[in-house]
Amino acid sequence: MSDLRELYQEMILDHTRKPRNFGRLEGAARRAQGFNPLCGDLVTVYVEVDDEVVRDVRFEGKGCAISTASASLMTEAIKGKRTAQAEQLFERFHQVVTSDPGKPVDLDSLGKLAVLAGVREFPMRVKCASLAWHTMRCALAGDGETVTTE
Ligand code: ZN
Repeated sequence: MSDLRELYQEMILDHTRKPRNFGRLEGAARRAQGFNPLCGDLVTVYVEVDDEVVRDVRFEGKGCAISTASASLMTEAIKGKRTAQAEQLFERFHQVVTSDPGKPVDLDSLGKLAVLAGVREFPMRVKCASLAWHTMRCALAGDGETVTTE
């Protein structure tokens, strides 16, 4: 288990140092901003949706390692997916990170997002990990509002 944990930490660091899909998406019809006051994480998510498919997704912002890695992994996970699939993925992810740390979780169903499952042991970091996801959903909804996680 500790080997797996180390591997996960490496992957998180890799996404923190080299966030994927980072930067503004010019002309994106949908975007939203998210803020996590507990940690100070700030993220803007841009999505381009066509025919119910996420054609492109990017993010920018400033935040801790977990929030940056989570945003990076989120963009990779939902790019090219149908919006309904992105929603399902969010639900699965959210379920895992908010689950009881003592209970086993189905990591396989999360794919690469499994690297963030460890945050469930740190309630303060759950907001960091879920911020980009809440913001993405808000962007998909197209209301362009600022989401603040409580
Ligand atoms: Zn944070």
